[in-house]
Amino acid sequence: MDDKISFSWDLHFVCNYRCPYCWFDGKWGDLSKFNLYPSLADVLKAWGRIHDRYGAAHIHLLGGEPLVYPRFPELIRALSRSHNVSCTTNLSVDVDEFLHDIDSARVRFSPTFHPRFADFDRFVSRLLKLQGQGLAAAKVGYLAYPPQIPDFESFRKRFAAHGIALVAMTFWGDYGGISFPAGYSQEEKSIIEPYLADRDGEKFQLEPKKVKGMLCGAGQRYAVVKPDGAVVRCGGSSVSQSMGNLFDDHFALADQPQPCVSDHCPCNEWVALLLEEVA
Ligand code: SF4
Ligand code: SF4
Repeated sequence: MDDKISFSWDLHFVCNYRCPYCWFDGKWGDLSKFNLYPSLADVLKAWGRIHDRYGAAHIHLLGGEPLVYPRFPELIRALSRSHNVSCTTNLSVDVDEFLHDIDSARVRFSPTFHPRFADFDRFVSRLLKLQGQGLAAAKVGYLAYPPQIPDFESFRKRFAAHGIALVAMTFWGDYGGISFPAGYSQEEKSIIEPYLADRDGEKFQLEPKKVKGMLCGAGQRYAVVKPDGAVVRCGGSSVSQSMGNLFDDHFALADQPQPCVSDHCPCNEWVALLLEEVA
């Protein structure tokens, strides 16, 4: 990790899939009221203020599904002129529009394969197009949701036949009355552990790490922006601390790191942000 400030930006709470393991499963209707869709000019103005204050940042686009955000190609092209931009996507839409006039040194797509909805061949063809333009690595995420684990190995082999690595992302939530990721069986662990995804070189958690009380740069060197511009310290945390609004002229990150107030760090942001050793 370099010393750039970084943000995750939930562009909108809209997705064309309905994965049962999604953070937002069962909440799409309630969350839709936060979808603001500001003009591109207002968006660029807000991120321009961030650039003036902190220099070029890393902005990671999430959702919902970023690719179905209105005028997404225009947005990513404009945003990446002054910031580094990455994007997690289900690759459910054609990528031809993103292949040109986009700086591969500043833009990266990170696809996740959702087998209940995605067409395998179409997904691979889109990823290979992005990869060919230097816009994606030959790596795909796969949710280690308990009912999907038995199919992991066959999908891994199918992707490997195209030179693509399939990595397992741990599921955070309840399934069958069991809380995950702590509830993975030995058999499930033996399937996913060799292929666990990582964040900045640190493997995703199979045993939830305890982070409460530890000094963390979330809110100071990193923050999460919601679709209405509301900024919180970090994502996935059970306790998200409000920090103002990106569209406010006076928005600023905190000056100092603060202790973590969450029991766990399910999005693995701790890897780059915690200032203390985690057990
Ligand atoms: S594709 Fe991603 S955002 Fe959409 S429902 Fe699935 S997990 Fe959620
Ligand atoms: S350790 Fe994780 S949950 Fe805690 S403040 Fe840092 S980023 Fe947020």
